[in-house]
Amino acid sequence: MSLESERERMVEALISQGLLHTPKVVEAFRKVERHLFIPQNLHAEAYADHPLPIGCGQNISAPHMVAIMTELLEVEEHSNVLEVGCGSGYQAAILSEICGKGGVVSVEYVPQLAERAGEKLRNLGYSNVKVVWGDGTLGYPEKAPYDRIIVTAAAPKIPKPLVKQLSEGGRMLIPVGGRQIQTLVEVSRIDGKILEKNHMDCVFVPLVGEEGWK
Ligand code: SAH
Repeated sequence: MSLESERERMVEALISQGLLHTPKVVEAFRKVERHLFIPQNLHAEAYADHPLPIGCGQNISAPHMVAIMTELLEVEEHSNVLEVGCGSGYQAAILSEICGKGGVVSVEYVPQLAERAGEKLRNLGYSNVKVVWGDGTLGYPEKAPYDRIIVTAAAPKIPKPLVKQLSEGGRMLIPVGGRQIQTLVEVSRIDGKILEKNHMDCVFVPLVGEEGWK
């Protein structure tokens, strides 16, 4: 089967499991070629629903987790989006397809990964994505406030700088908990108040840095 038809099969499976439903999100999943974000020797597994190693001890998240988080994030056409944990750049590409006229800042701690993802996204023409090498637990104040923040690594607690950089009406999704297992938490700022809502259990690689794991 071609990678293209495998991708279509992955999308159909995510739809039938009820994980993908918003037309703009489905379209993004159809368009972004996951195999381009992983090492060549793993291309045969590109559209299987599990995480894959991308080097430097890090992973590209499983498609179902990208689907769940992207749907819960409810990115809009003009959203200003911050991602913490760029990794391969795949999630950033998905967000970029949805927020069109807004933009994505994606922060990555590991310099080699930041460089590789930045180059990949540039080559693919994602001009509304800016990859930044740095500690994403501090956010990226230069482009704050953000309408949407997505953290794709496991945090011991919700980093205060990220809450500070969330706009009024903004929403953040972040896995919070222990090193082995976390809860996907939705944080929103409504009428100046910070609200938290727990979703499902999840498993992510640790968030390091100032407000992360030591
Ligand atoms: N969203 C990625 C998957 C991320 S895996 C994708 O689509 O491929 C988690 C990533 O978070 C790893 O690349 C890891 O290096 C990064 N990370 C961990 N702590 C970080 C921090 N403090 N700031 C930025 N990135 C961090």
